[in-house]
Amino acid sequence: MSNLLKDKVVIVTGAASGIGRAIAISAAQHGAKAVLVSDIAELPREGGTPTTHEIEALGVATRFVRADVSRKADVDALIDAAAPFGGVDVMVANAGITARDDGADVSEESYRRLMAVNLDGTLFSAQAAARQMKANGKEGSIVLMASMGGIVGAGMTVAYSTSKGGVVLMAKALADALGPDGIRVNAVAPGTIDTHLLRTAAGIADAAEGFRQRTPLRRLGKPSEIGDAVVWLGSDMSSYVTGIALLVDGGLLAV
Ligand code: NAD
Repeated sequence: MSNLLKDKVVIVTGAASGIGRAIAISAAQHGAKAVLVSDIAELPREGGTPTTHEIEALGVATRFVRADVSRKADVDALIDAAAPFGGVDVMVANAGITARDDGADVSEESYRRLMAVNLDGTLFSAQAAARQMKANGKEGSIVLMASMGGIVGAGMTVAYSTSKGGVVLMAKALADALGPDGIRVNAVAPGTIDTHLLRTAAGIADAAEGFRQRTPLRRLGKPSEIGDAVVWLGSDMSSYVTGIALLVDGGLLAV
């Protein structure tokens, strides 16, 4: 499609399914040299073939690396797997989970898991990538997956919104810390995107129809539309952009 990511080595976490899968495929379509697909499971939650098969079909080097992002050792091993390809240039910390809690009903177990995946996992991923980029003297790009729920609070997902608000701040703080090394860090904040997470998370699928009706573009987003935003942030086309949260929401938060 383009050569925006020419010569870049890209890692995407949570890339077996949904948005992460679309990002990994977009990276390959836009000229990446290699795409490392990482997840806790290799097969997509929505069914179908492994993401690596789609990328191989595009003639791009790829590898599946199993990693639970809440475990720092897994994340460190994932980043090490990029070394044979020349080291990571674009790190996409996409893995995330959600749960409806309506504020008053957050179980300790659900809260701890949400924070472990969405906050700890995102920070571990960004930091491990930054360490390798610095060691290789690379001016890389790190993209963190936030959510519109991390920009405006959503009462039905209080713990999730809290974690994603943390991701938005994490992008700003990391942008400050890593900017002097030429490493850019941005967040993407999707609106309502049609994925397995949206369709199956208890109590969230019903709410999605309400979001669709309130969205100026009157439709849910496609995972590939988040892939397009990530390709731009990962590419040199956004070379003076760091510390932002890029809303990709069909205009939902504008109204
Ligand atoms: P999804 O459930 O379809 O896919 C998420 C993937 O992450 C799955 O393949 C899953 O196995 C993987 N994963 C879960 N826990 C993991 C862990 N501990 N380590 C590694 N991988 C793990 O979800 P999605 O809709 O594609 O969401 C992807 C990201 O986008 C998440 O961070 C989510 O919060 C964010 N997001 C989604 C929407 C939406 O409307 N779908 C909106 C805003 C933000």
